[in-house]
Amino acid sequence: MNVVVIGAGLGGLAAAAHLRRDGHEVRILERGLLPGGRAGMIERDGFRLDNGPTVLTMPELLEDAFTAAGATMSQYVTIKPVDPMYRAVYADGSTLMVRHGREAMTAEIDRFAGPVEAEAFGRFADWLAKLYRAEIDTFIDANFDSVLDLVKPWRAGLELVRLGGFSKLDKKVASFFSDERLQQIFSFQAMYAGLAPYQALSIYAVITYMDSIQGVFVPEGGMHQMADGLARAVTDAGVRIDYDATVTRILRTASGAVSGVELASGDRVRADAVVCNPDLPVAYRTLLGGVDAPRAARRGRYSPSCLLWVAGVRGLPPADAAHHNIHFGADWDGSFKALIKDGVRMPDPSILVTLHSLDDASLAPDGCTSLYVLEPTPNLSGRIDWSRERDRIMGDLRRRVGELGYPVDVVTEEVYDPLDWEAQGMERGTPFALAHTFRQTGPFRPNNVDKRVPGLVFTGSSTLPGVGVPMVLVSGKLAAERVRDYARQTSVVRW
Ligand SMILES: Cc1cc2nc3c(=O)[nH]c(=O)nc-3n(C[C@H](O)[C@H](O)[C@H](O)COP(=O)(O)OP(=O)(O)OC[C@H]3O[C@@H](n4cnc5c(N)ncnc54)[C@H](O)[C@@H]3O)c2cc1C
Repeated sequence: MNVVVIGAGLGGLAAAAHLRRDGHEVRILERGLLPGGRAGMIERDGFRLDNGPTVLTMPELLEDAFTAAGATMSQYVTIKPVDPMYRAVYADGSTLMVRHGREAMTAEIDRFAGPVEAEAFGRFADWLAKLYRAEIDTFIDANFDSVLDLVKPWRAGLELVRLGGFSKLDKKVASFFSDERLQQIFSFQAMYAGLAPYQALSIYAVITYMDSIQGVFVPEGGMHQMADGLARAVTDAGVRIDYDATVTRILRTASGAVSGVELASGDRVRADAVVCNPDLPVAYRTLLGGVDAPRAARRGRYSPSCLLWVAGVRGLPPADAAHHNIHFGADWDGSFKALIKDGVRMPDPSILVTLHSLDDASLAPDGCTSLYVLEPTPNLSGRIDWSRERDRIMGDLRRRVGELGYPVDVVTEEVYDPLDWEAQGMERGTPFALAHTFRQTGPFRPNNVDKRVPGLVFTGSSTLPGVGVPMVLVSGKLAAERVRDYARQTSVVRW
């Protein structure tokens, strides 16, 4: 089949790799000048500054995409573990280093909170591993055609019930650890799914597994290198990538099936199937005139957004800084209430400060640092008027980062607020897509196929399985499976 992939985000690239392995002719049309989409990068004044994801987990899923392209990841990008994975700094001044590997982490918890909590970590890690095994094949790496697909793998479902997967995450984590600081570090990952730990079901602890147990990694040369490497691998496998090629319309036959795409230049590209990587609700609105997005995408609950400040700065970080530094604010539950329920800024914001140049001197000139500061904020359904408040909030964030001891003498910088994410085509101004509430997950999430438009398949964070680099890579593989099914169906019809 001739398959057009709209967008060279990680979802589009992974889909292209799997499609190519299946023998399709694949052409990617990307509106930008670089691959990677949200996993982007700015190269300026001697700095290479990542402006997207910073926490890479489950690198084996990235390896899967390279394998599909007939390559090995190490030919294109070198991935290294980050240790400590996080430095967690709490409002009371205490500091926990989240370490790679059970032994090192158990020793650190022993130092931080004593032997009882250290022993609890072993049980917690065992529970997370069981939870992950029960979920990965049946619920994450799986396409869904109906709600029944959720109950068919009943053994795995029963195992999840047995493991307490449907209890609330905060309570489950508290059943292992009595130290509130440990409860925070092992449940904040719910935020990656757009939820507060008190809202999330324990099944989402699988994100904690991917992160705190399987470990955090970083590509040499910065996060964007994984997208750059994958784009080179799929190109070497025979995929054509056109940059500066904005798709304005998905073309359809009289029966509704896709027949190609139209570009901003007016050119048309014929296709038997189209894989669509732009944010799903935006794609329905702008590329598929006349076909409404599924209800969950139109009416659903979107994840909180973020204010992102990336800067090349003069000076070096404090001696105790780690690659990833989480500065927790006070009032844990109040922070989530502000972000998710009230739609306002956290009263004492928790922030992530990532220093990629700490482990990779090539990312900043001598004596300088690459600074990445992310503050979670409400999305555009919230009550912050970013056109008026941006400067004040940014001023506050700059001051805070300086007070925490990081260098803030800026050589070059960029700031992204929810209005900027919206301008880049992200629904409700959030780069983190639909939240993973139970009703927006699995068969309830906007599906990657739509019966009304045969031959159209979605990939990326707003469809199955969900948000974040690992999930988006899986979504590319699932999209290729859908194209495989479609190819089979259409060949039967033609016959
Ligand atoms: C600031 C930030 C921090 C994050 N932190 C993490 C993290 O630490 N860990 C993690 O796992 N995830 C993180 N994420 C989330 C992760 O980056 C995303 O889930 C993932 O990269 C989304 O990939 P995607 O393929 O779905 O979409 P995208 O990357 O958005 O790809 C879509 C592509 O389609 C292109 N496109 C759109 N419209 C058109 C059109 N009309 N024609 C042609 N091309 C088009 C876009 O240019 C883009 O290249 C973060 C994201 C951001 C922004």
